[in-house]
Amino acid sequence: MELKVAGMSLTDNKLNNDSLQAVDPEIYSSITDEQKRQQDNLIMIASENLVSKAVIEAQGSVLTNKYAEGYAGARYYGGCYFVDQVESLACSRAREVFMAEHANVQPHSGTSANMAVFLAMLQPGDRILGMDLSHGGHLTHGSKVNISGRYYQSFSYRVDPDTCMLDLEAVRHTAREIEPKLIIAGASSYPRLIDFEGFAVIAREIGAILLVDMAHTAGLVACGLHPNPVACADIVTATTHKTFRGPRGGMIFCRQKHARAIDQAVFPGLQGGPLMHIIAAKAVAFKEAQLPGYRTYQENVLENASVLAEALSGLGFTLVTGGTDTHLVLVDLRNKNISGMEAEKVLEDVGIVTNKNVIPYDPRGANNPSGIRLGTPTLTSRGMAPAQLREIAVLIEETITCRHNSRHLDKIRQRVRNLCLHYPAY
Ligand SMILES: *Cc1c(COP(=O)(O)O)cnc(C)c1O
Repeated sequence: MELKVAGMSLTDNKLNNDSLQAVDPEIYSSITDEQKRQQDNLIMIASENLVSKAVIEAQGSVLTNKYAEGYAGARYYGGCYFVDQVESLACSRAREVFMAEHANVQPHSGTSANMAVFLAMLQPGDRILGMDLSHGGHLTHGSKVNISGRYYQSFSYRVDPDTCMLDLEAVRHTAREIEPKLIIAGASSYPRLIDFEGFAVIAREIGAILLVDMAHTAGLVACGLHPNPVACADIVTATTHKTFRGPRGGMIFCRQKHARAIDQAVFPGLQGGPLMHIIAAKAVAFKEAQLPGYRTYQENVLENASVLAEALSGLGFTLVTGGTDTHLVLVDLRNKNISGMEAEKVLEDVGIVTNKNVIPYDPRGANNPSGIRLGTPTLTSRGMAPAQLREIAVLIEETITCRHNSRHLDKIRQRVRNLCLHYPAY
């Protein structure tokens, strides 16, 4: 008798009809729908991007079958010859792109990368100092609902109440008072350059370790458009999937003297087998970051964000910090009489996908915040340019102003569709 599971014959261990569509039509159809959603909408989530087909191919490869606990040349499994090549290439390319002495490309995510740094450098109960979550920081920088705020004593610095900019003198003051073992610089919704060099000086003054988390801006750093923190920080973490435009994952850079501690913390400290298919896709993304078109792409990301900021300002929107030096714009909607949640919803309704976001000193609080965060990496990957970003700013303004006029919203939806048609995602 032949046993069959979802079209798979267990006796010959081969798929009779192994296309995803045949094996799992439900998942196939959700993926197809998601691909269509990405094509038919203007995705302005600042932390998202569109990876190349080459990255997707590496990610969807048979490398997913391989166990490779350990590091290249020192694995706990046989048969690692080819995955060793993959990880070695990924690491050497990563070191080259970010001019780092040491790179670890195994973290499954930005969060895992940060946890590994804490595990390597801290004892439970040690003090850490990071940017307040509601001022642009990240959950992993000491939020009380995250392990970083539960296993360590976490403190935060905030932005200036008038300018909403980081004020290094205020950071210095807090750092001297708290005397943390580790300071974190880096943010998720801060639209300005961060003076990593200034943070390094503060960390040195109080004998703290400096961790720079460049999750959002790694792509801008990779081609020299933003200053590289690898030179001045003790340790740098990043994601590979935001501006960097690689597969979903994390990475860590450090000086040679911390290399062993970091590697040990990632494995066996925190993770098991590395995701070799993702590491292959990371290697592809590192290679793409060294191609000539990459810098042009990142320049366009920045130009588009600055054009978007200018256009929105011109249309009466208040921008946190008044503008941007990055790929993202944080809009303070209070003068528009709409909450971030409502704005996110009505914009999505016309095909503009954003996220509600708290603004510094948000009077509404984190659950129903006053802002939305907009980013340009995905639109730029589709080839959109300043003219399109100006048009999108107008569409955003009309959507929010005319949100109760369903006929007007229909017209906006049509204009969004037209834009999407002209700039294919793939
Ligand atoms: C996105 C982000 C992370 C976490 O990345 P995940 O891959 O989602 O875990 C960490 N730090 C900062 C500053 C981020 O913006």
